[in-house]
Amino acid sequence: MTIDFKDKKALIRVDFNVPLDKKTFKITDDTRIRAALPTIKKILKDGGAAILMSHLGRPGKKLKEDGSVDVERFTLQHVVKHVAKLLKTKVHFCPVTVGKQAEKMAKELPMGEVLIVENTRFQSEEKKGDEAFAKKLAKLGDVYINDAFGTAHRAHASTTTVAKYFKKGKKAFGFLMEKEIENANRVLHDPERPLTAIIGGAKVSDKILLLEKLIDFADNIIVGGGMAYTFLKAQGGNIGKSLCEEDRMKLANKLVAKAKKKGVKLLLPKDSVTADDFSNDANIKTKYSKRIPKDWMGLDIGDKAVADFSKVIKNSKTILWNGPMGVFEMTNFANGTKAIALAVAAATKKGAFSLVGGGDSVAAVSQMKLDDDVSYVSTGGGAMLEFLEGKELPAIAAMK
Ligand code: AMP
Repeated sequence: MTIDFKDKKALIRVDFNVPLDKKTFKITDDTRIRAALPTIKKILKDGGAAILMSHLGRPGKKLKEDGSVDVERFTLQHVVKHVAKLLKTKVHFCPVTVGKQAEKMAKELPMGEVLIVENTRFQSEEKKGDEAFAKKLAKLGDVYINDAFGTAHRAHASTTTVAKYFKKGKKAFGFLMEKEIENANRVLHDPERPLTAIIGGAKVSDKILLLEKLIDFADNIIVGGGMAYTFLKAQGGNIGKSLCEEDRMKLANKLVAKAKKKGVKLLLPKDSVTADDFSNDANIKTKYSKRIPKDWMGLDIGDKAVADFSKVIKNSKTILWNGPMGVFEMTNFANGTKAIALAVAAATKKGAFSLVGGGDSVAAVSQMKLDDDVSYVSTGGGAMLEFLEGKELPAIAAMK
């Protein structure tokens, strides 16, 4: 951030979309808030004031019975005290997002203090990227800072359109955004090789574009999780009741053929931990992934797969990980994901650069308290995925 913030009101788009306890509305994980602190602190330290805007949850999708917004549930007021505690600064709250009251509070905000305006998604204009609404947001600050990587793939008013109303030199990415972009670029452009991508999670269909892109630049692609079974069935395997997207089987074979042609090693799990029910209490057997009995389903990668995958991971110099290797939310099917997390940590210790991006692999790494043992854990699931697919994210494009 090259802007001089002295005596400036900085309008910052942060991602304070934190999980809340359903009854008490207490924050259950403040990672996203902490991630935005360096930028806010820098602005306050330089003699500026910070006006924060963010969305919280999906208020537009969870309207009350009378069709109105559920303010009690989705108000950003829920984060105010915690932000004040973390920043050790006075934090004011404005119960509206834009308009006279918000403008007055922003204008009267003393330097060194913080104002949080109400949930941007209380306004339906936000998701439409509405210009008039963005213009009203722009009135709140002298400069605009975007530090919300998690929503950078959305062309919303507060993430994208608002940037139009600030001239060059009056808008910039915050530290978090800069770091996310730098780390993703490190994987995408000129990575140290071999580069291994570990892709897991439920569906092939969610990750087709990523897989296609990876075939162009990765040396090894490890496919685990539920999505692996579509590949295995397409190759003639018996996968029982495992997750399968029949309509993606042709595509799976095409991806395998393309990888082969390009000399990219694509690994599937040799064996699987299978269960006779989608439950932590189910009976469990380890089976070859292509020989799963009729009424059983693969819910985790097996020991042979862990050994294969770990060997490749440990010999890598750059690692990208998106998506768990199994149903890691259930303890009996979490071992594969855990073992892969440990292999990534071991490779990192040996000098590899490892980027963990995507909601559930991030959760797995953090559950195992390995956040500090990998090089970078991204805060943006969908945004990181789209960035790695090679798309220009609207919030990034808007800054140009
Ligand atoms: P994604 O959001 O696509 O990264 O998928 C994450 C979800 O995939 C998690 O909730 C996992 O429980 C689920 N998942 C991973 N492996 C499997 C599997 N073998 N069968 C069913 N679901 C799985």
